[in-house]
Amino acid sequence: MVLDPATLTVTFVLLSAVLGLLLLFSWALNRKVTALAWWGSSFWLIAIGIGAANLGHGQPAYAVLLGANALALLSYGALYTGCRVFNGRPASARGALAGVAAWIAAFPFIASSQGYRLIMASLLACAYSIISAWELGRHAKRPLASPRVAVVLLLGLAAFNLSRAGLGVTLTSVSWIDAFASRWSPSMALLLVVFGSTLAFMLLSMAKESIEFEYKQAALIDPLTGAPNRRAFMRNASRLLAGLEGRAASCLLFDLDNFKSINDRYGHDTGDRVLTIFGEVLASHLPERSFGRLGGEEFGAILSLDSRAAADLADRIRHAFAASAKESLDGAAKATVSVGCATGAGLDANTMLQRADEALYRAKRGGRNTVIAA
Ligand code: GH3
Ligand code: MG
Ligand code: MG
Repeated sequence: MVLDPATLTVTFVLLSAVLGLLLLFSWALNRKVTALAWWGSSFWLIAIGIGAANLGHGQPAYAVLLGANALALLSYGALYTGCRVFNGRPASARGALAGVAAWIAAFPFIASSQGYRLIMASLLACAYSIISAWELGRHAKRPLASPRVAVVLLLGLAAFNLSRAGLGVTLTSVSWIDAFASRWSPSMALLLVVFGSTLAFMLLSMAKESIEFEYKQAALIDPLTGAPNRRAFMRNASRLLAGLEGRAASCLLFDLDNFKSINDRYGHDTGDRVLTIFGEVLASHLPERSFGRLGGEEFGAILSLDSRAAADLADRIRHAFAASAKESLDGAAKATVSVGCATGAGLDANTMLQRADEALYRAKRGGRNTVIAA
């Protein structure tokens, strides 16, 4: 098969432009994912850069070599910035422009040597690929799968650029290496056509996955306390109980004491603060998916503990909450919690909650700030 360089170059340029448009279109639909705008611009910059350098006749002029590579490095800068903002970090003008600035500063000294130009541009591109992968991997705050694939792709891009720089050093006379190391070869164009589409697909899938993640969070996490909401709690509890296959589990039902009067006396904001403190206490005492806010000032937990261990744990939470509230509120309000515990085997979550609620009722009648087991 004979690969025609001009056709492949035109294919790469047009494909990059189309992929850039698709990324920008996606951004127009989801303005919150600003990374898409950076990535779309990145594809456009590389399309213009590669097009300018390779679609003319003969050796490109000085200005074309300078400008085309500058655009390509700007493209890498935009790719890197997109990876930064994707993880919620601020865009960095210095980071986006460092590569192109280094290129422009060095160009007068390397303009006459194809080898030096290749080394310089490839090493800068390699550095951008590595720090882009680093940004995606190191600063990921969400457990998403597609950024991990993108990290692998970016590391592949880094290896590709590094090998090109290495070939620039040797500029050997072996023909296929020469072709690879030259400014543009059909096999390189083919590789980039395939790589560009894969990367664009991955970037779109990252955006999609991150949006889905936000929606999932909103549907399952209580925004005030950061605890799982009732829906998430019931789902997690059912899963836990199903996994126990008939072994005993305990349910804890927490209800903050005289919470209405905290709101009335100190204001709703203080009430919210107390709820947040209680959420933090639960998070520091219980496994991640074992508890949730059931509504208002009521929280629940289901754990694979016997009644004794469950009551002990509930009592530690009760003490920790009173101490934490006292410290955080600086004595402005006294906050305590009553807890009902129920233990049983082979029961569903609703039944366990009902039994714990009966115990909680007795805790309230018995004077509050106490733990009662059913
Ligand atoms: P008890 O000790 O018997 O549980 O009394 P209580 O005052 O805690 O119970 P009650 O059910 O009478 O009041 C619960 C209050 O919780 C009423 C409601 O305004 C308040 N509340 C519910 N959700 C929130 C919230 O998100 N923020 C704040 N600040 N208050 C809330
Ligand atoms: Mg209540
Ligand atoms: Mg209450």
